[in-house]
Amino acid sequence: MLKKAKILIADDDPLNRLVLEKTLANDYEIFLVDSGEKALTFIKSTAVDLIILDIVMPGINGYEVLIQLKENSTTHTIPVIFISANTSHDDEAKGFELGAMDYIAKPFSPIIVRARVRNQLLIKQKNDLLEMLASIDGLTEIPNRRYLDESLSREWRRSRRAGTPLSVILMDIDHFKRYNDCYGHRAGDDCLKRVAHALVAACERGTDFIARYGGEEFAAVLPDINQHEALKFANKLRNAVNALAIPHKASLNAAHITISIGVATTEFCQVHAEHILLEEADLGLYEAKDSGRDKIIARVIAAS
Ligand code: GH3
Ligand code: MG
Ligand code: MG
Repeated sequence: MLKKAKILIADDDPLNRLVLEKTLANDYEIFLVDSGEKALTFIKSTAVDLIILDIVMPGINGYEVLIQLKENSTTHTIPVIFISANTSHDDEAKGFELGAMDYIAKPFSPIIVRARVRNQLLIKQKNDLLEMLASIDGLTEIPNRRYLDESLSREWRRSRRAGTPLSVILMDIDHFKRYNDCYGHRAGDDCLKRVAHALVAACERGTDFIARYGGEEFAAVLPDINQHEALKFANKLRNAVNALAIPHKASLNAAHITISIGVATTEFCQVHAEHILLEEADLGLYEAKDSGRDKIIARVIAAS
């Protein structure tokens, strides 16, 4: 059975909370809070699919809660439906301007609340699916460059705040043009898929992922991983590709498919921009190519 969508209801009026809960509890998992502060605290620990937000509440009001949700990268896509006894057009317009998805006037009809909630959840489901499709590489079905760039950006900001290490790995298949020329483009595509899946299978931590960075290049972002650990992981990735033993008789450095790897680490996240990590990993990759391919070159970025 599909998991029930989670809905957070924030309303200071106990009767409204009760009626809303009764209206929706059959179809959804409902969480109730009685203030804006509690709503903001709650969504830090629990991911919800929709928020129904009263506007007039003591302390932080509904508008302010919505502003804070929109400023946070983990909550800005959660749809919010305002529910309020303020029914002037100005109030409604303000809600939409701030990014609310819908506005329900009190007193409300349960049937209409159910219909509007269902509509918003359907839109959210479709948006999530589009977001997912936009982040997946069509050929290998692993995350794409867009996904990696966004993840690097997020992890870089987190590492910088926490002063924790961050590593980036760039990998490139050796003499892949020769592989295509020798075996054909279709075989090249199959080879890319097999390499991608071997790299993915080598990831053990739930937080690690491999992305297709472009053509025959792959990349990984490794939060909290120092140079020593990053090198160990890079070695595992290189071995995983070697273990596939995909014949490559046109290669100039081995009889099978190999990859070259560049690793860049900042131990206390001293770099002042995320792209520096990628550039350093790219320099490492070029050095690995220069030193004979099927090699790993690691670079540590010193404090700047
Ligand atoms: P090096 O060892 O220096 O990396 O040599 P290389 O031949 O791998 O590098 P080069 O950049 O010269 O060539 C990359 C090749 O990868 C050329 C391109 O046709 C091929 N390629 C890129 N994307 C795809 C793809 O989606 N499918 C296939 N079959 N080939 C691809
Ligand atoms: Mg390349
Ligand atoms: Mg290559």
